[in-house]
Amino acid sequence: MIPAQFDYIVPQTLAEALAVLADRPDEAKVLAGGHSLIPAMKLRLAQPQILIDIARIKDLSYIREEAGQIRIGATTTHYQIESSDRLKTICPLLPEAASYIGDVQVRNKGTIGGSLAHADPAADWPAVILALGADLVATSKKGERVIKSDDFFVEMMTTALEPGEILREIRITLPKGRLGQSYRKVLQPA
Ligand SMILES: Cc1cc2nc3c(=O)[nH]c(=O)nc-3n(C[C@H](O)[C@H](O)[C@H](O)COP(=O)(O)OP(=O)(O)OC[C@H]3O[C@@H](n4cnc5c(N)ncnc54)[C@H](O)[C@@H]3O)c2cc1C
Repeated sequence: MIPAQFDYIVPQTLAEALAVLADRPDEAKVLAGGHSLIPAMKLRLAQPQILIDIARIKDLSYIREEAGQIRIGATTTHYQIESSDRLKTICPLLPEAASYIGDVQVRNKGTIGGSLAHADPAADWPAVILALGADLVATSKKGERVIKSDDFFVEMMTTALEPGEILREIRITLPKGRLGQSYRKVLQPA
């Protein structure tokens, strides 16, 4: 299938992306890795009139430690999380879960923010983020707000993100003391 016609813009900054989104909140969709949105557009389940490609905004892709938290930028790819030696030490659940996502092509393009915003109940990140009790930082032209993971997933394919908002960051409180983590997945036989 061929998607319906759309405009495509590649903002270099988050402010630029938010400005376009604020101007056209009902027509625009954010594009990150495209591994869920593009298939939906090809099936015409989604028909945005404009795609705002946020994948090249540099300060949206990172893994840092700050204020006792692990902070992961929304466009950080599954592969970046899977291959982070620091995460393997401080929160091994994250790289372990990432390693189960799709195949290497999917992990190289797909992003944690895209997966969470898509809110597919069969996806891996929503379960992990709920188990870790993460906070999700949403940003818009009006400012920023922090959404608890328990409040983020409203129902299947629906999140608490408002029109005009972009998921900017995922915050996970650094685990303390002795603990173990493990991720088990019923693998797709295909
Ligand atoms: C062959 C294949 C196998 C896969 N296997 C798995 C698997 O085993 N496990 C799994 O969990 N997933 C799997 N996926 C899905 C994959 O992980 C996607 O990468 C992910 O679901 C969506 O991330 P994305 O960056 O590609 O988002 P996109 O497709 O670009 O966007 C998805 C949705 O989120 C919105 N969005 C994206 N980023 C943001 C943001 N920062 N703020 C607000 N809205 C945003 C978009 O507007 C869109 O509605 C698979 C996909 C494919 C094609």
